[in-house]
Amino acid sequence: MTLQFHNTLTGTIDPFVSEQPNLVKLYTCGPTVYNYLHVGNWAAYVYWDILVRTLRAHDYQVDRVMNITDVGHLVSDGDDGEDKLEKGARREGKTAWEVAQFYTDDFLQGMHQLNLLAPTHLTRATEFIPQQLELVRVLKAKGFTYQIDDGIYFDTAAFPTYADFAHLDLAAQKAGARVEFNPEKRHSSDFAIWKFTPEGERRDMQWETPADLLDSPADTTSVMGFPGWHLECSAMAMSLLGDTLDIHTGGIDHIPVHHTNEIAQSEAATGKLFSHYWLHNNHLKVNGTKISKSLANGYTLTDLETKGFQPLEYRMFVLQMHYRSEGNFTFENLTAAQHRLHNWRNIAALRHQTHDTLQDDDEKSTDERSVSLYATSQAVIEALGNDLDTPAALTIIDEAFSRLTQVRLDDIHQHAFVELLETIDETLGLELIASTPDIPDDAKRLIIARRQARDTKDWQRSDALRDALLRDYQIALRDVPGGSVWQYTD
Ligand code: AMP
Ligand code: ZN
Repeated sequence: MTLQFHNTLTGTIDPFVSEQPNLVKLYTCGPTVYNYLHVGNWAAYVYWDILVRTLRAHDYQVDRVMNITDVGHLVSDGDDGEDKLEKGARREGKTAWEVAQFYTDDFLQGMHQLNLLAPTHLTRATEFIPQQLELVRVLKAKGFTYQIDDGIYFDTAAFPTYADFAHLDLAAQKAGARVEFNPEKRHSSDFAIWKFTPEGERRDMQWETPADLLDSPADTTSVMGFPGWHLECSAMAMSLLGDTLDIHTGGIDHIPVHHTNEIAQSEAATGKLFSHYWLHNNHLKVNGTKISKSLANGYTLTDLETKGFQPLEYRMFVLQMHYRSEGNFTFENLTAAQHRLHNWRNIAALRHQTHDTLQDDDEKSTDERSVSLYATSQAVIEALGNDLDTPAALTIIDEAFSRLTQVRLDDIHQHAFVELLETIDETLGLELIASTPDIPDDAKRLIIARRQARDTKDWQRSDALRDALLRDYQIALRDVPGGSVWQYTD
């Protein structure tokens, strides 16, 4: 089966080939844990979860690192301004360590609620300080760094392909940046890999700068400092996955600076390609507008739950869009996803209401309907393998489910149907099987009694039994050719 992805490095849709057979080394830029994640952030992590599931469905084992940025990401996204964690600490009257722990826990809880697979390694930047300092050391030894008042910088002019990845026009960038250009920097594109704690500033998170990394080691007190945001990702990725990754993922906002800088410092240090494939998700807007603090439109999972939407319904909403298209969040769109998931659950519940046919295996495999269910599983995996085309996968499932509602229950091949549901759960993570338990035996007895009442044309009793089912079990009945099926009402 084909497996291909849009690769930012080449600008084309490329067939996927891993360095080692059946193993993918994958790195995902994780969240900065200074606040709750909003719907846009979560959309990104849902897409990368689909990537892992797709690779697995295509028989790859995935060794994946996702980082937690708990230090060094400045409010400017560049080298100036406050550290987001230290800012969060002042806002909340806590230490930066406490803020990081609180929002890391919240992130883990959200991952669980959205049924995102745990990465092989979930790494905090603060736990990789020695590796980051070592990377600074290597870069310094190779002549890629220089020191100025506020830190140690990467010299982008020493890395001639710096502009290639994002097709940057460095001359224009320099002209545009003149106003806030730090005069000590040699080029506006140079970036801090290790920053010194400014004099007079109190930081919760800081480490001693090893003397050998300094141009003129301080003779009196030690120089405290902290890593640059870009350096973290390179250090964590390479120390756990090796010098060259198969796939690196992130948001499109990362292309011109964060990923460009990751590539420069990693490749400068190792002399090897940093990653074969780069996948980037487009951004989600809310009501057609960019998500921003001032508009207070960055809904969290808790906001959605308060308005009556479950995390898996949000997951379905995300899957309705392709990761490379700009998405638009509206409560109308989310409601549509909620209905779709509700309908899918009622289809999944049909498996409790069918019986496996008595045909032998040979007959089964040639049976037209079962073959089409097996083929649906394959088609879903194929659609995802085509650059994670989740909207196409959903359409394939909708069509198969719609066919199921048009045949007699006895004609549904139970085994093939359960297999399709398992494939959907494995690849899309919607928990169709876990969220659709069978109904209690007492409810089933009411359904049988109602059927008998109908057979004897005792309409009054039949209606009373239907009402009892709804009242006591929240189960509705829908009459279909040759009988009736039950479905959940919530
Ligand atoms: P941050 O915590 O700011 O580093 O962002 C976490 C992740 O969310 C990054 O991968 C961003 O690219 C991604 N992201 C931020 N805003 C959006 C958005 N509106 N839509 C989709 N992804 C986003
Ligand atoms: Zn990163």
